[in-house]
Amino acid sequence: MLRFQSNHRPPWGGAKGGFGLNEKFKRFLHSPWIFLVGFVLILALVNLLGNSRSVQAQITYSEFLDMLDQNQVESVEVVEDQLIITPKSRGYGVPAYYTTTVVSNDALVGELRAAGVEFSASKPAQTFSIFDIVMSGASLLMMGIMIYWIVSLWRATRNKGENGKQSGIGGFGGFGFARSTAKQFDVQNCTTRFTDVAGQDEAKESLIEIVDILKNPAKYTSVGAEIPKGALLVGPPGTGKTLLAKAVAGEAGCPFFFVSGSAFVEMFVGTGAARVRDLFQQAAKKAPCIVFIDEIDAIGKKRDGTGLGGNDEREQTLNQLLAEMDGFDPEKGIIVLGATNRPEILDKALLRPGRFDRRIPVELPDMKGREEILKVHARKKTMAHGINLKRVADATPGASGADLANILNEAALAAVRDNRSAVTQADLDKATEFVLAGSEKKSMVISPEEKRIIAYHEIGHALVAMKQKDGAPVRKITIIPRTNGALGFTMQADEQEHVLMTKEDLTNRLQVLVAGRAAEELMFETCTSGAANDIERATAIARNMVSRFGMSDQVGLMALDTVVNQYLDGELRSNASQESAAMVEHEMKKLIQQAYDSAMKVLKENASTLNHLAEYLLIHENITGEEMMQLVEEEKHAGEPVLAGEFKIEE
Ligand code: ADP
Ligand code: MG
Ligand code: ZN
Repeated sequence: MLRFQSNHRPPWGGAKGGFGLNEKFKRFLHSPWIFLVGFVLILALVNLLGNSRSVQAQITYSEFLDMLDQNQVESVEVVEDQLIITPKSRGYGVPAYYTTTVVSNDALVGELRAAGVEFSASKPAQTFSIFDIVMSGASLLMMGIMIYWIVSLWRATRNKGENGKQSGIGGFGGFGFARSTAKQFDVQNCTTRFTDVAGQDEAKESLIEIVDILKNPAKYTSVGAEIPKGALLVGPPGTGKTLLAKAVAGEAGCPFFFVSGSAFVEMFVGTGAARVRDLFQQAAKKAPCIVFIDEIDAIGKKRDGTGLGGNDEREQTLNQLLAEMDGFDPEKGIIVLGATNRPEILDKALLRPGRFDRRIPVELPDMKGREEILKVHARKKTMAHGINLKRVADATPGASGADLANILNEAALAAVRDNRSAVTQADLDKATEFVLAGSEKKSMVISPEEKRIIAYHEIGHALVAMKQKDGAPVRKITIIPRTNGALGFTMQADEQEHVLMTKEDLTNRLQVLVAGRAAEELMFETCTSGAANDIERATAIARNMVSRFGMSDQVGLMALDTVVNQYLDGELRSNASQESAAMVEHEMKKLIQQAYDSAMKVLKENASTLNHLAEYLLIHENITGEEMMQLVEEEKHAGEPVLAGEFKIEE
């Protein structure tokens, strides 16, 4: 069955790759790493010097007296009440001298005389050892070097700020790593226009209005309308959010700052907030202008208030963003656009009026939208005459703009591979399949018996789909294995095409999904692992029916599951108690079993058609929707059911 994997990532935004060595070194000098390196060096040096002081050891007075008794003392120097004792024994690990505090001065001289030790007294000022001097000298030197670094770096960034577009800001920001990495778009160079974005008419309209507001604020304020501060583009990945923002940049004719949300939360604590501040400072200078923050969920995540230190950085960044958005005067003409495919995780504060108060949905394209997107991208490629793009649009329900762009690109690549100068319909059809289901993998070793099972499995899906009253028409059945692991698949038109799914639609789909397995059991009295993906999808549909759509009488109208992420994978989180969860599962099982029974009934009633189609598929490996209709018609007239095991390959 058809399966989509849309792993699209935006191809632009973020940092440039591939710096020269020189450039790298410069960046290193301007990064905080240099301070880290310096700090480590100083620590190492201090440690080294400190270690050499272990030549000295503090002992008690009685220990000193013992040393005297054992005749281990070479000489003694008295500095007020301190004794500096040089021992007779020398060598590695033995301190060069000992110090101790005198308990009683009177007896001392007698003792020293008795032991025959040389002794003298001196003033405290002279106790500076060579180590003390070296130590303080070294620390002074290091301090000096640090200050020199800081000053020269600050100068460097400030000079750069004056010459270039960006300005260094004072304090810590002056080091360069707190500056915003926003790229200011060169309006002349931005060639993307609204005409490059197909479909998405509502989104375009909203954005055109925003650009208009920016250009003629008076028109709006004179009526008393509040000027919006921000708008949020929300929708699944690959639907053209980033592209729309680029188009705004191209059309607006005003400065446009483009920054990715993740650029704020890169390295060091505090830099995110500083970068936000800097971005808005730059924007204020260029107003009227547009600031676009792509993938804003990277900073806009809900503050969870658990107080665990890990989120502080992001929260500070978010708070700064909120403060900046409150701070600027709307009449000044800064509009903040954001884009995200995870609106549900955004902090409520970001969405309230006065911030991203406008939501612009950018949804997956419908049939017409898909065709338009294909047309936009086909303009840039050399296409053979008579290409039918509608056919591709037809076959790709649920595909995003990025998927469609990818299909056209794959088709063009295929044409080049064959040394042709234009893309043909065959290229397009191949590319569609490639993007939908992975490329064909002819070399896979499949035994004739396995191949037969696969053929019956796929025809099972197709036949049940065909026999449904208002089921979606079958487009194509194939048993050529795919690189993504599918051994065959049946493609139906308009899956996911409805805004509203009726219980009948869903049941129909369940039946089609389990029909593959039913055909296996009916014809071979066994079952295979090939149905795993079908079962997974059937389970997901059944679960949604029971726990979200209220389509089971037992469970009733209760949302026992909530969708964690509406745009990414539709993953569910269960809110059910243990008993309810058991009930949900029971109901799911019932739904799937019912679907299976109905599918099995259809297959049994049409066993001869099943045989006829499956044998044809075994030989030809592909069947189109039209061929299938034709075969079914033929079969009707041929009559006479064939039983399992009896069939022969017909020419
Ligand atoms: P998003 O930011 O929503 O994840 P992008 O804007 O990065 O998606 O889209 C990726 C690519 O897909 C675009 O560069 C473009 O080639 C194509 N695309 C997506 N939507 C459309 C569309 N509506 N019209 C034309 N091309 C589109
Ligand atoms: Mg994007
Ligand atoms: Zn299947």
